[in-house]
Order: sequence, then C-alpha cells, then structure tokens
Amino acid sequence: METYIQGIALQELGQKYGTPLFIYDADKIIEQYKKLSNALEVPNYRINYACKALTNLSILRLLKDLGAGLDTVSLQEILLGLQAGFKPKDIIYTPNSVSIDEVLQAIDLGVQINVDNIETLEYLGHHKNEVPICVRVNPHIMAGGNQKISVGHIDSKFGISIHQIPLVERLVKTLNIKLEGVHMHTGSDIVDSGVFLQAAEILFDVARRFEDVKYIDFGSGFKVKYKPDDFETDIVDFGRQISKRFNEFCSEIGRDLTLMFEPGKFLVSESGYFLAKTNIIKQTTSTVFAGIDSGFNHMIRPMFYDAYHEIVNISNPNGNPRIYTVVGYICETDTFGWNRKINEIKVGDILAFKNAGAYCFSMASNYNSRFRPAEVLIYNGKDYLIRERETVEDLMKGQTDPESIFA
Ligand SMILES: *Cc1c(COP(=O)(O)O)cnc(C)c1O
Repeated sequence: METYIQGIALQELGQKYGTPLFIYDADKIIEQYKKLSNALEVPNYRINYACKALTNLSILRLLKDLGAGLDTVSLQEILLGLQAGFKPKDIIYTPNSVSIDEVLQAIDLGVQINVDNIETLEYLGHHKNEVPICVRVNPHIMAGGNQKISVGHIDSKFGISIHQIPLVERLVKTLNIKLEGVHMHTGSDIVDSGVFLQAAEILFDVARRFEDVKYIDFGSGFKVKYKPDDFETDIVDFGRQISKRFNEFCSEIGRDLTLMFEPGKFLVSESGYFLAKTNIIKQTTSTVFAGIDSGFNHMIRPMFYDAYHEIVNISNPNGNPRIYTVVGYICETDTFGWNRKINEIKVGDILAFKNAGAYCFSMASNYNSRFRPAEVLIYNGKDYLIRERETVEDLMKGQTDPESIFA
C-alpha cells in the first residue's frame, strides 16, 4: 500500500493532526473527474457531483473549479454549494419526501428543481409553472448493488413510476409546465454497459414525449474498487457507448441535448483515507482484536452496508502479516473487518482505511458523545486542515443550561 500521498507520509499526518483523521487526496478527485469527462464524447455534457458523499466546502470548491455542477438532496446541501461558490443554475436539487415549503425555498434560491412525485408536480403546475423543472423517473429496474442502495426497483420510494408518465404528460400539457429535464438514478452498479443502455432507452422514450426537454440526467451507478480484485465500471467503454447512443438520439429528435451524470462515490471514494490509532490488542480464545480510537460513529459503512474497506497498518508496513479483527470503541458491536490479514499491529500503531472519501465523514455522528474527526486535504503537494476536530463545546452547543430549569 502506498503510504505516501503526493509525497506526504500518511503516518506523519496522523502524528501532526492526531487521530481519528480523514485525509483526502485532491489529485485522485481530479483524476476521476477527468477520467469521466474525457470518456464522454458528446457536444454537451455536465457532471454534477452528488455531494451527499462528502460535503466539506473545500471538496465542493475543488469540484467547482474542475467544472462540475452539484447534485443536492437537501436545502442545506444547496446552501453549502452556494457557499463553496457554485452558481444556483449549476446546482440541481433532487430531494425525496420533502415538504412543498422546502421545494419553494429551493426555487427561491434559483436552483434547478428535480421533481420526484406527482403531487409536487401538480402543485408546481398550479402555482409555479414559470419555473422549469426536471422529473425523476423510476424505470423499475433493479440490477446490482443491494436492497439498501438500490433505489430503482418497483417498491422503491424514489421517482415517478414509469407507468405514471402518461399522467405526467397530461399535467405538463394542461398546466403548461416547462419540463426541461428527465432524470433517473437507480442506485444500481454499472456492471456492463449493455444493461445500463437498456435503462437509458426507457429514459429516451420519456424524453421523446416532451418537446421542452434540454437535458437527460442518467444519475450515477459508477462502481469503484474496494478490494484489489473488485469489479469496477469500465468508464472508457461505458462513456463511448452511452455517448454514441446519446448522439444518435439527439439526431433522431433533431435537438442537441445535454448529457448529465451525477456521481458521488466515483469522484471521491478512492481519494479518502481514514486514520485511526490502535488502543488495544486483545487476544481471546479464538480471535485477536485490534481495538481502535474510532467506531461506527465515524465510519458506519462496514456495519450498515457490510461494506469492505481495506485496512493497512501504516506504522509497520513491513511487519509480518497476522490475522486481526478490527473493532471500534463504541459500546455496541462495531466491527470494521473480520479476520483481516494485516502487518503486525502494536498498541499505538496507526491503521489506514481505504476508500474513505465517500459516505464516511458525511455519515459520521456524535454517538457515544465522541467528537467527529478532523479532515485534511492534500492539494498541490501540501496538507491543509479543512475541518477542525470537534471539541466538548460542539457537543454542548445549542443545549439549554439545565441550571435554568432545575435550579
Ligand atoms: C446518492 C445519489 C447519487 C450518487 O450516488 P453514488 O453511488 O455515490 O455515485 C446520485 N444521484 C442521486 C439522486 C443520489 O441520491
């Protein structure tokens, strides 16, 4: 494992900033963005970063400077995006189960609105039909991923069912709705381009029915490697095929549309490293546990999704490999990895978790009243602290002094 990022030893950063610590390699984010943009051979495309993966302002700014737009799912993500410098028109808001009131606030901020249910569509048609919108279509396909992350199946709460498109057509016509975009995000991994292209056809069929359509947003589904032998989406092959089909579709309808994607994980997952220090080595009758200064409060993916994150001992990169079960300090079962082969771990050694860029810090909590970790960005060969470690003041912030009630 590479323990150096842009010439900086991860081990040194662990000592400098303390643990637990998130570290992000800007070069990797730039590489991923360029890989995808180079693969798209169409006149107009847009890559919107799905920022729920990692919302640190400096990460948002890095992606903005690369030319990305932003995919947001809450009003708060919009505000972070605006703070990072995104223009409202470059932000798309794709919420689910939010109130009309929140949608209206997003409209006031000037961002693009992606509508995921008939009720909101009808409301906007009656009260805000001057606002151009996009509709999120649920194509009811389910391939790859697992039930928790797959969001395109028939029982999924996301999107407007493909079977309700005739109703959408009627509403658009009678209420004079400006439907400028069609969107899908199935949550399924793009395993082979052929399967994805079939789903794309469903979206083309929808787009054909609306003459104001300016863009088609295919969501995400880009898979990255979590293990060395993992499958990953072949971006070059996929880009070529979707581009070819997209260009054909544009000439078929006689209009130049914009092709859009909104990856989260693909852009930031591999850029991230999570560092934690070993507090204890505990030998039981069957297992050697390495207990670290973190838990599912900082990185919940292994416990929540059964996600695999590679774990390496960066303090002892040449030690003899042994078998460890790496666990956290939360007073619940929080196992990061069972029976992992890791170079010999001693108390005080720093372990690095790979693929810690996406859905790690952004899903972190204060459970067990622990502080959320600091975040560091490595950019142009230099390390920058981009979020301070929390303090006890953060835990108490906003709480009423009990003295004022119980005195
Ligand atoms: C979460 C999300 C994404 C990003 O998914 P990844 O698997 O991280 O690429 C894209 N679009 C929408 C609407 C999402 O909710």
